[in-house]
Amino acid sequence: MVLEEVGTALALRDVPKPKSGSGQLLVRVSACAVCRTDLHIVDGELPNPKLPLILGHQIVGRVEEINISSDKGQSGSDFKVGDRVGIPWLGWTDGDCAYCRSNRENLCDRAKFTGYNIDGGYAEFAVADARYCFHLPNQYNDVEVAPLLCAGMLGYRSYRKTGAAHRLGIYGFGNAAHLIAQVALYEKKEIYAFTRPGDEAGQKAARSLGAVWAGGSDETPPQKLDAAIIFAPVGPLVPAALRALAKGGVVVCGGIHMSDIPSFPYVDLWQERVLTSVANLTRRDGEEFLEIAPRVPLKTKVETFPLEEANTALEKFREGELAGNAVLKVSSS
Ligand SMILES: [Zn+2]
Ligand SMILES: [Zn+2]
Repeated sequence: MVLEEVGTALALRDVPKPKSGSGQLLVRVSACAVCRTDLHIVDGELPNPKLPLILGHQIVGRVEEINISSDKGQSGSDFKVGDRVGIPWLGWTDGDCAYCRSNRENLCDRAKFTGYNIDGGYAEFAVADARYCFHLPNQYNDVEVAPLLCAGMLGYRSYRKTGAAHRLGIYGFGNAAHLIAQVALYEKKEIYAFTRPGDEAGQKAARSLGAVWAGGSDETPPQKLDAAIIFAPVGPLVPAALRALAKGGVVVCGGIHMSDIPSFPYVDLWQERVLTSVANLTRRDGEEFLEIAPRVPLKTKVETFPLEEANTALEKFREGELAGNAVLKVSSS
């Protein structure tokens, strides 16, 4: 499924099978989860995507070819033909800039991202740099594990930025929140879930997952929070979340795009409150998260669509009509 122009529906196209470049794996795609970022790219909210583009950065498949040669100084890959492989958002970094050299490859100046600057997984085949691919825990089938590759990993990076916070607010209780709340509960945190005002069903779902409190984003929680993560792409939630914090608390914006943040009085930030954002992921985040997920054990909720119905999946995501993470299943596998 190909995005030919920003702002248009994806088109079903027969494209040549991609060729693996040096250091890359050719992967036969089995499943690819849909992310809010895919919608931001279609809508033109992220600048300069590769066009035409195959979206999708939560890819699960099997290695079909390995193009790695030790003659070129490439370290051998630990993947074998036939192995199951996960391909995430971070697709390539230069390994050489100040960010990469200080363990912040997520901020690399020249980073390339799957399903944005590199063709992704809304397709039968994908190629990926072996160094950025993951082995996946056996406990999960292909469809269940796909949403862990972005909603899970990015959520995890956001969660780790809340440090030792005990009372944790989560604004926007969608896919990433559903996953990360399970990790937080496993680590004995208290979850305060904020949904759209009036979203009784969402609040009930959060309570049944184990949240000690659930309410609308316009409500004040019964306790001051040590930290809050904002997953909803809604700027006005930033001052709201800051006001819900105890002194020294942190607000983490977990999304790649957000509407403008309205101005707010300095007193809402004062007393050493911290406002930060999360960008992308490092390979280390991914490895840590895939290690903890089966221990929780983390459960994903999915709704599957055939690859050809990617547009339907995206529209349902946009309208908030999904019962879980949308995952595209590729029929040839
Ligand atoms: Zn994503
Ligand atoms: Zn770099």
